[in-house]
Amino acid sequence: MTQSQIGLIGLGTMGAMLALNIAEKGFPIAVWNRTASVTHGFKAEAGVLAEKITPCETLADLVAAIAKPRAIILMVPAGDPVDEMIADLTPLLDADDLIIDAGNALFHDTDRRAAAAAIKGPHFLGIGVSGGAEGARHGPAIMGGGLRSDWDRVAPILNAIAAKYKGEPCADYMGPAGAGHFVKAVHNGIEYADMQMIAEVYGVMRDGLGMEAQAIAETFKAWNTGPLQSYLIEISGEVAAATDTHSGKPMLDMILDRAGQKGTGRWTVIEAQQLAATIPAIEAAVMARNLSSRLEERLAGEAVFGAAPQKTANVTLAQLEQAMIAGKILCYAQGFALISAASKAFDWPMPLPEIARVWREGCIIRSSMLNDMATALTEDAERNLMLAPFFADHLKATHGALRQVIAAGALSGLPVPALASGLAWFDMMRTGRSTANMIQAQRDFFGAHGFERVDGIADKHGPWAGHGL
Ligand code: NDP
Repeated sequence: MTQSQIGLIGLGTMGAMLALNIAEKGFPIAVWNRTASVTHGFKAEAGVLAEKITPCETLADLVAAIAKPRAIILMVPAGDPVDEMIADLTPLLDADDLIIDAGNALFHDTDRRAAAAAIKGPHFLGIGVSGGAEGARHGPAIMGGGLRSDWDRVAPILNAIAAKYKGEPCADYMGPAGAGHFVKAVHNGIEYADMQMIAEVYGVMRDGLGMEAQAIAETFKAWNTGPLQSYLIEISGEVAAATDTHSGKPMLDMILDRAGQKGTGRWTVIEAQQLAATIPAIEAAVMARNLSSRLEERLAGEAVFGAAPQKTANVTLAQLEQAMIAGKILCYAQGFALISAASKAFDWPMPLPEIARVWREGCIIRSSMLNDMATALTEDAERNLMLAPFFADHLKATHGALRQVIAAGALSGLPVPALASGLAWFDMMRTGRSTANMIQAQRDFFGAHGFERVDGIADKHGPWAGHGL
């Protein structure tokens, strides 16, 4: 019997689709799932691809079915299940075999697993996979971290299954150890902010302008033909257009406004704080998801203060589109700046232009802007994206509308936290003389922390709290 070229563990939503994708690209694959009936059902429903799939009853069967040196993908929930699978597989594998964690691992866990693998084997690769079930089946974006030689070993398979942008695979090596999972986390952070900004402009349309769901759908559809062209704008148009089969009402109106999350946005924010990187639009998006889940508290607030008036005549659809363009640039700029900060802090040379290229297709944040971002980062990966001439011109043209939308929101009680955080960051990033002199004075007053003077005089304390009096 021909041996499989790769193995996969975990035939859930993502694993099953990834395995079919691998089989479809011509690679024989052995699969194992904790619940054996799922494995058999998977093979039975694989149609013409079944001949490429070897279902395995035990992990020993799986290991025996794969050609050496083996490569096995884990597609199980992040955390303990990954450690358990590594512990179960290790005694069955050779030192030069390779375990690939393709789930949404916390990158610190990937670092730890890579370090353990370097000591006693088998090899370990952490790859971030984006694109949901559809992406996994027909072409996800793939961000790899670990040893370059391990990436190169499986790159032919990963490149074959990845999404393609004009024929170029949206898969690449991001750097050592946890780099792939770090980039995936930042991808998800940007995704949170992009989704939140879309939800905010949706709120202005629905509550501020009183637009019906169909009109909102048409607006998103129109925006998707311009600079905002992206997967998230496209699906926002589709969900706004959908009708609930139970009530006949717009589907969106029947969905409870309590947003779920699995933690990758939070990880991004925590890591940004550790690195002193500034990603306020992403922080605002995580905050908004957290607050959305506190429905009872929000209802208590409404009972005390009354609902805000919300209707506004102070904003147009054209301004909303411009605000969204500015917001989108700013949230991506923050995400790339975070990756740049991590590159330096962890001494991982993460390739910013390649990251933008990998995100152009297959992943949830794919958008036409990412190609321009790849170009801008290729010109100068050190420069903040908002300073690249192409995006600076866009921001010069759109930040006025962003201000108008935020002002209208503030006056009418329409919350736009991610857009507002993006604008505050933009304004701070363009302010040569900030107000941090006041912070420094306060710190010196109560803690004698000292400050630098603008005139270079060496006196680092003010005439207060016993100094210079
Ligand atoms: P599912 O819940 O659909 O599937 C989980 C799979 O893992 C099942 O095959 C399950 O087996 C198996 N499993 C669960 N616990 C264990 C365990 N302790 N030991 C062994 N196997 C176990 O998850 P998804 O496919 O959605 O997600 C898998 C990974 O991919 C996660 O890390 C997720 O964050 C990530 N991911 C998910 C995306 C998505 O859109 N869903 C997108 C990108 C990444 P059993 O059948 O026995 O329950």
